[in-house]
Amino acid sequence: MSTEAANKDILRGGQFLVKETNCEDVFTLEDLNEEQRMMRESTKEFVDRELWAHWERFEKKDYAFTEETMRKAGELGLLSVAVPESYGGMGMGFVSTMLVCDYISGATGSFSTAFGAHTGIGTMPITLYGTEEQKQKYVPKLASGEWFGAYCLTEPGAGSDANSGKTKAVLSEDGKFYNITGQKMWISNAGFCNLFIVFARIEDDKNITGFIVENDPSNGITLGDEEKKLGIHSSSTRQVFFNETKVSVENMLSTRGNGFKIAMNALNVGRIKLAAACLDAQRRVIGEATKYANERIQFKTPIINFGAIKSKIAEMATSVYVDESASYRAAKNIEDRIAIREAEGNTHQEAELKGVEEYAIECSILKVAVSEDCQNTTDEGIQIFGGMGFSADTPMESAWRDSRIARIYEGTNEINRMLAVGMLVKKAMKGHVDLLGPATAVGEELMGIPSFDAPDFSELFAEEKDILKRLKKVFLMVAGSAVQKFGPELENHQQLMLAASDILIEVYMAESALLRTEKNAKRFGEEAQATQIAMSRLYLFNATETIIRRGKEAIVSFAEGDEQRMMLMGLKRFTKYTNYPNIVALRTQIADKVSADNGYTFD
Ligand SMILES: Cc1cc2nc3c(=O)[nH]c(=O)nc-3n(C[C@H](O)[C@H](O)[C@H](O)COP(=O)(O)OP(=O)(O)OC[C@H]3O[C@@H](n4cnc5c(N)ncnc54)[C@H](O)[C@@H]3O)c2cc1C
Repeated sequence: MSTEAANKDILRGGQFLVKETNCEDVFTLEDLNEEQRMMRESTKEFVDRELWAHWERFEKKDYAFTEETMRKAGELGLLSVAVPESYGGMGMGFVSTMLVCDYISGATGSFSTAFGAHTGIGTMPITLYGTEEQKQKYVPKLASGEWFGAYCLTEPGAGSDANSGKTKAVLSEDGKFYNITGQKMWISNAGFCNLFIVFARIEDDKNITGFIVENDPSNGITLGDEEKKLGIHSSSTRQVFFNETKVSVENMLSTRGNGFKIAMNALNVGRIKLAAACLDAQRRVIGEATKYANERIQFKTPIINFGAIKSKIAEMATSVYVDESASYRAAKNIEDRIAIREAEGNTHQEAELKGVEEYAIECSILKVAVSEDCQNTTDEGIQIFGGMGFSADTPMESAWRDSRIARIYEGTNEINRMLAVGMLVKKAMKGHVDLLGPATAVGEELMGIPSFDAPDFSELFAEEKDILKRLKKVFLMVAGSAVQKFGPELENHQQLMLAASDILIEVYMAESALLRTEKNAKRFGEEAQATQIAMSRLYLFNATETIIRRGKEAIVSFAEGDEQRMMLMGLKRFTKYTNYPNIVALRTQIADKVSADNGYTFD
């Protein structure tokens, strides 16, 4: 296929909303090649041997143990998967990087945070924006685990408003150094890192600038005490103070004033990897909860036999199945986009940067959806364990506490929800995604008379795909009218943006699961995919219910009179099932399979 043709075929970021995707065109976990499967296996072995077996040490704030296991991960090459071979890495594709982030997250959030902060935001700014000299000097050390990295963006007065930091970088009189002075807080890996990526402002620049700063206490760098945190107990999180810290001008990252862009692009990658890091955490919790439910006897029967427990197990399994589907779908889109750009003559660095940026909407969607699913799953994990779930002697309690941070860092979920819709609207304005045409068509459809033909829903997912198509129309109806009404002022109507975002998120997640299952049902047979079919149906039902509620909230917030009535009727029409699925039966079917397998076995 020519690059041009490939370019046309691959869905661009945000286009899932207006373009139909064939199931053959999505990548699924079942498509992993031999190399990727081996990578997954060696990550799992590492986790079982080095992390899960020492789970209690991570809970006891053994920071030194985190550092020690990070070094072991380095020896096994797990820190270098995403690093190009020319800088000492394995140079594997984006999917492999995601696999490692995913399966390394199972045992403890402490390690996966340290891992993510080092391999992601601590290393990526240099591989993505560094000069050749900077990359040669630092990346091989970071890839091998000889050195560790940390990322200093947040300050006491600059959190979500990341470009408002007060840290200053002042050029020395001889023009050879910048002197950096300022206070950074919540810095992961601060306690043991060798290098900081620091964002500081030069003079009164509008935007901050990035620097690579080696960690040398004799150069005006001091650390605050370890923060006392709700979870991720062995992840080092400290304040970092820079006092006239001398940094050579050669250590500026990219150009002056480009720091905010670097920070945001590093976060795009960070977001999808964070979603991955919330996957195996869920699988492990489901595994532990299922084993417990199969063994715990109350009222003379294992508690798994109670509908109340089955319902939880089914919803937990469904959420991670859907999350996997969407995460790996997006990961492969990114990998393919990088390959296309490289074939077009971009350097790997440029290609990777643009490849991830293209799917920034999907990265935000995944960060929000998967972090929230992870939290619900760990919460229900505690509930299934009953009183034992509340005990610090079982891993449910720590999993619940560890999962909480994922909604906060890499951009809070509120910020990411608004970003997802905001970026989509911007793409539409620039003509990169045609929302206007489809939104106008939906408007016309609303004025027309609905068809009363009885559709043929005999094929697998025929009705579900029909519903999905209509759910997309809900987003186009709500967001299209809101943009018309408020124009650029829309971003000030946050509750409306959040509702629209939830619709967008549900559409992407539900579609990803349906496409994965359809693809697998075609090649492995419907019988072999019976549980996955049930999970896809259950999720779509839940998604539709969320969309009905959020759609109503949005519509009545800005439309009145006839317009409101018409849109509410549209919402009803677009979310209608001809044949309601039996949700209780679906949940029972899913839970029975998970119980029989004694855990989650669909990955
Ligand atoms: C354990 C941990 C590790 C971390 N690691 C790092 C790290 O390694 N490097 C680093 O630089 N930072 C790190 N952070 C910082 C983290 O990224 C920030 O905490 C996060 O971005 C939120 O900023 P904040 O805490 O200042 O909250 P705020 O920005 O003050 O937000 C408070 C609340 O207000 C909401 N809010 C803020 N602005 C808006 C808005 N415009 N519209 C609507 N709602 C809004 C937020 O969503 C949130 O609910 C870490 C934080 C923690 C807790």
